[in-house]
Amino acid sequence: MTRRVLVASRNAKKLNELRRILDEAGVAGIEIVGLNDVPEYDEAPETGATFEENAVAKARDGFVATGLACVADDSGVAVDALNGMPGVLSARWSGTHGDDAANNALLLAQLGDVPDERRGAQFVSACALVADGVEVIVRGEWPGRIGRKPVGDGGFGYDPLFTPEGETRTAAELTPAEKDAQSHRGRALRQLLPHLAALADRG
Ligand code: IMP
Repeated sequence: MTRRVLVASRNAKKLNELRRILDEAGVAGIEIVGLNDVPEYDEAPETGATFEENAVAKARDGFVATGLACVADDSGVAVDALNGMPGVLSARWSGTHGDDAANNALLLAQLGDVPDERRGAQFVSACALVADGVEVIVRGEWPGRIGRKPVGDGGFGYDPLFTPEGETRTAAELTPAEKDAQSHRGRALRQLLPHLAALADRG
């Protein structure tokens, strides 16, 4: 029997990322569905102080509303010279939710005078899995640095500004497979795999 697991996202890239990671790990018996595949329910605003609080709140909402095991993630970039900000405010840093170009322009302006050796940052993803009698929260981090101009057309969000540690290319210049293998979300999602496999076994 296949067990349906809701990924509490409308972002096709995030859904595909999880599907690719499940396939690669050979986890069978799970069908991933997104928010567009289930009846609409009230989605609470993300008001938590941490990535973990936001992820688990979204996963609990999804499980309670649909009865399906639910995976949710909350992610962002934590910049050392900004004491870890934008952090949970990454998606709306410039004031408009999801305006990647404005968010990137504001971050570059804020770091205008920051020298190369103090431009460290990490992408962070907290992922939560909530099901009957199950609540797991994991975290993945991807260290790197913030450049001085956007480079690359791939990915989304702050990818064109972020050069991962050990790379000369920005995250926006990596292929999707290269990004999955290194990224904060890939690292977090892979920690959920044993828990998803256990759910599939339960049927
Ligand atoms: P969320 O969808 O609420 O988790 O918001 C995540 C925000 O953090 C996005 O809007 C991006 O600005 C940023 N972000 C998260 N993950 C990534 C990534 O993999 N690349 C670039 N930006 C990211």
